[in-house]
Amino acid sequence: MNRTGIVARVSIPSLADLHAIGAVQQPSYADPVSRDAAVETLRRMPPLVFAGECDALRDRLAQVSRGEAFLLQGGDCAETFEGVTAENVRNKLRVLLSMAVVLTYAASVPVVKVGRLAGQYAKPRSSDTETRGDVTLPAYRGDAVNGFDFTPQSRAHDPQRLVDVYNASAATLNLARAFTTGGYADLRQMHVWNTDFVRNSPVRERYEKIGHEIDKALAFMDAIGVDPEEFHTVDFFSSHEALLLEYEHAMTRVDSRTSLPYDVSAHFLWIGERTRQVDGAHVELLSRIANPVGVKLGPTSTPDDAIALYEKLNPDRVPGKVTFVTRFGAGKIRDLLPHLVEKVTAAGLEVAWVCDPMHGNTFETDNGYKTREFDDVIDEVRGFFEVHRSLGTWPGGLHVELTGDDVTECLGGGNRLSSLDLATRYETLCDPRLNRAQSLELAFLVAEMLAE
Ligand code: PEP
Ligand code: MN
Repeated sequence: MNRTGIVARVSIPSLADLHAIGAVQQPSYADPVSRDAAVETLRRMPPLVFAGECDALRDRLAQVSRGEAFLLQGGDCAETFEGVTAENVRNKLRVLLSMAVVLTYAASVPVVKVGRLAGQYAKPRSSDTETRGDVTLPAYRGDAVNGFDFTPQSRAHDPQRLVDVYNASAATLNLARAFTTGGYADLRQMHVWNTDFVRNSPVRERYEKIGHEIDKALAFMDAIGVDPEEFHTVDFFSSHEALLLEYEHAMTRVDSRTSLPYDVSAHFLWIGERTRQVDGAHVELLSRIANPVGVKLGPTSTPDDAIALYEKLNPDRVPGKVTFVTRFGAGKIRDLLPHLVEKVTAAGLEVAWVCDPMHGNTFETDNGYKTREFDDVIDEVRGFFEVHRSLGTWPGGLHVELTGDDVTECLGGGNRLSSLDLATRYETLCDPRLNRAQSLELAFLVAEMLAE
C-alpha cells in the first residue's frame, strides 16, 4: 500500500496482450511499421498531466461520491485539430467556468470542473463505413484516426495522427492551464469576460444578477481583508474517452513517486457505452491505472454489469476511483435508473453518479440533421435528480456536450431554435452540442434542482 490506498499492481499488460484480449472500435492500420513508429514516438513524449494532479482529482471525485461536491464535465463530442485555436479553447473554458460559477453560487456546492478536451479526438461509430450515393468509404472515427473529408485518402486510418493528437492536446492543455491559473479565471474578472458573452442571451438578466451579487460578496471580503487564492485561479482537469489502445497504452507510465501506473494523457479517462465489456481490453487497461475513471452506462446495462465493472476497475475500493455516467434517455431514466442505483448501493459500492443527458436523446430531424431537443436534455436531468432524491443518493454531476460558440445544433432553449434554424451554424463533425446560451440555461436549471 502507499498513500493512494492502492495496492501496487505495477504490471501493465503489453499492447499485444491487450489486443489479444479483444477490443472493439479500433482502427485498422495498413502499415504496422508506421503504427509501431508512432507508438514509440508517443512513449518518449513527456506526460501531459502529472500523477499528483490525477490523485487530487480522485480525491475531489471521492467528495462527489460522498455528496460533498458536484461534477461539471463538458466539451465537444469530438475535438478537431482545426479547432485548436485560442478563441475556440477560450470560448469553451468560458462557458464551462460560467456554468460552474452559476452552480457554485446559486446552489452553494463546490463544483469539480473537468473539460471534455485536450484529448477527445477518437470516436466510436455504430457503422464501420459510410455510404454517399454509390460510394462507400470507412466511417470518420475522429481526427485521431482519419479525416472527415469524404475521400479514400482522407478516410484511410493513419497512425501519424496519434502523434498529432498528442501535440494538439498539449497545445490545448497549455492554454487551459494558462487561462485557469494565469488570472483569466479570477472571479473579479467574471463580469468583464461575460459582458459580451451574455449580451443577447436569454439568461442575461439572471446571469448579471449573480455577477452583481458576487461582486458585492467580493467587496465585502476585500473590506475585511480576506483574499484567498481560490478567487484568482480554478482547479481545472482534462478528460477524454479512452478508446484507442495504441494511444492510451503509450501514454501509460509508472509514476516514480507512487510506483503505480497512470495514463498521463488526461486526468480522467472514461470507457464508452460501446467498449465497456467487463472482460474487454478497455476495461482491462483502465483497471491497471491509478487515474479516476468513468464508465458510460446506457439503457442495456444491468445492475450486475455495473457491479462487475466496479469490482474489476476498483478491487481495492479506492474512494473516488469510479464514476458511473448514466445516459438512458429522458423516456427511460425514471424506469431504469432506480434499480441500478439501488443494487449498486446495496452492494456497498461508493461511486460518483453522473448524468449524461445527451447520448440517450439523439434523433434525426426530417431535414436530415442529427440533433437533440433542449427539453429532453432538461427532462433527463430532472429524472436523474428525482431518482437520486427518492433513493437518498447524491445526484453527483453532469456530463454534457457543449461549445462556447453560438452554434445551432440542438433544438429549443430560450432562443427556441427550430429544425429550420439548424442549417445556420451546424458545425459539429459528430454529435450536436449545446451552444453557449443553452449551456448557461442548463446551468441555471440545474442550480435550481440542486438548491431544492
Ligand atoms: C460520447 O460521449 O461521445 C459517446 C459516444 O458516448 P457513449 O459512449 O455514451 O455513447
Ligand atoms: Mn457524443
